[in-house]
Amino acid sequence: MSDGDGGDGTGTGDGADTGGTAGRGGRDGRAGTEAARAARRDRAVQAAVEQGLLGPDAAVVGLLDVAGIRESAAELRAAFEAAVAPGTEVLHAFAVKATPLVPVVRLLHSEGIGTEVASPGELALARAAGVPPERTVLDSPAKTPAELREALALGIAVNADNPQELDRLDALVHSAPSRSPLGLRVNPQIGGGSIEALSTATETSKFGVALRDEGAREWVVRAYLDRPWLTRLHAHTGSQGIPLPLMAQGVRETYALAEEINARAGRRQVDTLDIGGGLPVNFASDATTPTFAEYVRVLREAVPGLFEGRYGLVTEFGRSLLAKHGTVVARVEYAKRAGGRPVAVTHAGVQVATRTVYAPDAWPLRIAAYDAKGLPKVGPDVVQDVAGPACFAGDLLATGRALPLLEQGDYAAALDTGAYYFAHHYAYNSLARPGVYGFSADPSGAVAFAVVREAQSVGEIVAEAGGAHAGALTSGLTP
Ligand SMILES: *Cc1c(COP(=O)(O)O)cnc(C)c1O
Repeated sequence: MSDGDGGDGTGTGDGADTGGTAGRGGRDGRAGTEAARAARRDRAVQAAVEQGLLGPDAAVVGLLDVAGIRESAAELRAAFEAAVAPGTEVLHAFAVKATPLVPVVRLLHSEGIGTEVASPGELALARAAGVPPERTVLDSPAKTPAELREALALGIAVNADNPQELDRLDALVHSAPSRSPLGLRVNPQIGGGSIEALSTATETSKFGVALRDEGAREWVVRAYLDRPWLTRLHAHTGSQGIPLPLMAQGVRETYALAEEINARAGRRQVDTLDIGGGLPVNFASDATTPTFAEYVRVLREAVPGLFEGRYGLVTEFGRSLLAKHGTVVARVEYAKRAGGRPVAVTHAGVQVATRTVYAPDAWPLRIAAYDAKGLPKVGPDVVQDVAGPACFAGDLLATGRALPLLEQGDYAAALDTGAYYFAHHYAYNSLARPGVYGFSADPSGAVAFAVVREAQSVGEIVAEAGGAHAGALTSGLTP
């Protein structure tokens, strides 16, 4: 589509604004897409109640909007396709940690999205989903020799995190041939965002080779010159809370380093740049902002050379692909008052919204109120707390929130929870992992559900809690 620089003037203006939803008509199209997504969510909650997926015996579930996930995947692909020179290889690798569910990884694979994995478990999920090695990238700050050996045997791309890992790769590369593209992760040390725990490019971040440390840049260049098989360069400058210009600056510095390595090598040794993920998500409304297209536009301004076709590209988006397509819905078991404030005690708390419960200021979630039939609740806003089921006082999904009054038997939904929430169960109080269902809604309003993950049974909880070793500490030890 875009023909190098020639396409800039006309091609990206509108295309970038619409987030690749070409044919749906600009901002109105985007607003329509967002309204349709909210309407699908309402219909899914109602259908989940009607079809018995939610009720007294299934008091909390996770719902995933399949059409929405497909839309986001298409928007990601379109945003880059509109920007890169023809023939540029682009691999969008979904960061599996965002939603580590095999059917989700398979769905994204069917939409042309590969995987980024960072543990043996995540790699196993990607393989179970049928994602081929050449569409998989292994990152992680703590890869063991066995993990590295497996990745190289399979031909999976690996980004080494540090000099010691590079030593291990040296040994493996010399011991057996491998198809794996190999790279190094650098930390451009551009600074952090508003959420310290998610800022990966700070001065002292644990990730990658800290590029601005004394002697580090020269060490990296030498590492490449000494290893002709190092062909990729990787940076992931952080997640939620990092402003787009700062993300783009991280990519720009990575690009500049690749240019320097290639100039020193006298050839195009670094042929692929892995720019990581980290596009933030708007948790305040149904609007998707920023869009992938907006990020691409910022990147084109900051790093025009990135799209000229001299480098293949890898991206590793997680949250921005899934967050807005997931909803946790929980039954209100009891409605009470304390200190004059209404409190709805629901079945969704720290076990499905761990970050929100432990860091409520950094991770506020929108809560939607539904009645006992699963219909959106109407009525005056009442300031109330929405609590979870766990036995500690801080187990609150929302504090002092103005919503239609939640009553016993109603449902509270935590919105935008498709990434890093219900797929990240926290086993406090031995609360069961909820069932997760994908849904699709046809234009007539009918909603179909598919099981993505069964709810965990009490028997499984006992088994995972050492049930098979009940006597281990009383009679299993001798003397
Ligand atoms: C977590 C992570 C991602 C995904 O980040 P999002 O904010 O979910 O897009 C990508 N790459 C690496 C290396 C990560 O650690």
